[in-house]
Amino acid sequence: MLNMQAWSYSGETGPQHWGRIIPQCASTSQSPIDIVGRDAVPVELGDLSFVGCSERELLDSGHNAKLVNDGHSIQVRHDGANCVISGGSLPGGYKVDHFHLHWGSDSSKGSEHTLDGKELSAELHIVMHSTEYENQRSAVGKVNGTVIGILIEVGQTSNPAYDKFLDYHKDVLYRGDVTNLDHPVPIIDLFPTDKSSYYRYMGSVTSPPCFENVIWTVLKEPVQLSETQMEKFRILYMSEAGASPLVRMVDNYRPPQPLNSRTVYRNCGNETDSAKTTVKLF
Ligand SMILES: [Zn+2]
Repeated sequence: MLNMQAWSYSGETGPQHWGRIIPQCASTSQSPIDIVGRDAVPVELGDLSFVGCSERELLDSGHNAKLVNDGHSIQVRHDGANCVISGGSLPGGYKVDHFHLHWGSDSSKGSEHTLDGKELSAELHIVMHSTEYENQRSAVGKVNGTVIGILIEVGQTSNPAYDKFLDYHKDVLYRGDVTNLDHPVPIIDLFPTDKSSYYRYMGSVTSPPCFENVIWTVLKEPVQLSETQMEKFRILYMSEAGASPLVRMVDNYRPPQPLNSRTVYRNCGNETDSAKTTVKLF
């Protein structure tokens, strides 16, 4: 019998087998998905708003920023900070727990969500939980959390916002490695220029235990990283130091799952689109 720790991104315990390890992973509202632009329903959801997420606010909060290799990805945490994202028709404020990334063994693949069938080079996930969990439960029913997905493509120039943690990548080469960052990584700087155009749907956490009732927000515009920056992800290991063989941390992404009966909405942002409507999602 395989247990929770047994999942991986390849072979016998890879994504094709997660449903056998954890039945929830074979359920009907899983993430990621392929986002088909022409099928996304244009609506007016409003802009996201950010409180406590800027560099100044993170510094003032006396945050303790850490970069962690958890064996599946690298994640950045700001322990002690209080970065809250709301707006965008989210049912309340959501405190950022951490962000992590998924990437490929080369830049032709690596994102979890795909756009019209196209894979991008990587994807950043900002994972949040409700600031008023009990109130939210009674008000809107079962929502397990919310994740913002930012797609990453390779461009000509490097992205300095991402260097604020990538510069420390050699300190977290192996599973279980943790290092303190000298400076905070402002969440808002990780976003693309256009923060108003995004997709919205109900899905799941993209790794076991694959919890559903997760509100997904996937930014329409990718951000660009240089190939040199992408290569810093690929020298990391999924293995602990000294393990044999050492397994590279690459292709740590789940392929798109069936959409089934779900609807994908598209916030129109600043577009003038006569077809857009207002919907109550939660
Ligand atoms: Zn993720």
